[in-house]
Amino acid sequence: MEDSTNTLLEVNHLSFRYESELVLDDINMNINHGDFVGLVGPNGSGKSTLVRILLGLHKQYRGEVRWFGTPARHFHQWPKIGYVSQKANRFNAGFPVTVYEVVAMGLYGKKGLLRFLNRKDKQRIHEALEQVDMLGYKKKNMGRLSGGQQQRVFIARALVSDPEVLILDEPTVGVDAASAQSFYERLSYWNREKGITLILVTHDVGAMTKYVTKVACLNQQLHFHGTTREFEESDLAGTYGHDVHIIHHEHDHHAGGA
Ligand code: ADP
Repeated sequence: MEDSTNTLLEVNHLSFRYESELVLDDINMNINHGDFVGLVGPNGSGKSTLVRILLGLHKQYRGEVRWFGTPARHFHQWPKIGYVSQKANRFNAGFPVTVYEVVAMGLYGKKGLLRFLNRKDKQRIHEALEQVDMLGYKKKNMGRLSGGQQQRVFIARALVSDPEVLILDEPTVGVDAASAQSFYERLSYWNREKGITLILVTHDVGAMTKYVTKVACLNQQLHFHGTTREFEESDLAGTYGHDVHIIHHEHDHHAGGA
């Protein structure tokens, strides 16, 4: 048994269906403080559905989800859980909102746009932008940034409320291998140095196993949940690595992802 005081998220016998389609079948999973979890599975395997349940967005599930010991249905401290969606609303050039304003929304929702921000708020926005190397862009219109830059701003928006957990849904889709690698390195740094717990949702098994400490493999059922080493020693590494974009790193750990 794991030490329950260290458990941040517990999922017990979770099942979920859309209409007639069973999407999640009896999922059991524990995530501890300080874990860096790669949640992997092919397209359509239920990853986004699981994340939506974890975020309290789907409530019609069977089984139990607990954050910090509290059933998700009664959990109210959502600012502790940062989330960056894959399809984070991309802003087009016509939408007049600045980088700074988007990050401010992470503090007070849309009120962050209108609200008087105190010195501490401003300091937090400053730090969040610094963490993603976007401070120099704070006055820029979101619509003028590239997709990758916008995504860094969305990460700053998630970080500004100082979450204990950050859930990232397919953050490296459409990003070149070198940028993906430096992004994973940054996540790993936040995990080790700031103790932030990370859940990285991805179908990119090859690249992320260099960085994550735990792996969960989902395909309607949870086929594997354990340490990265156990995953690499299992035959699932082959199965889940199949048919997805893999950055080869079988030679050594310094092979560079590109
Ligand atoms: P993943 O994120 O791993 O790609 P999803 O959770 O998006 O998987 O989807 C899992 C399954 O649920 C798929 O078969 C998908 O077609 C189905 N699904 C997803 N969203 C809905 C929805 N809103 N209504 C009905 N079926 C859905």
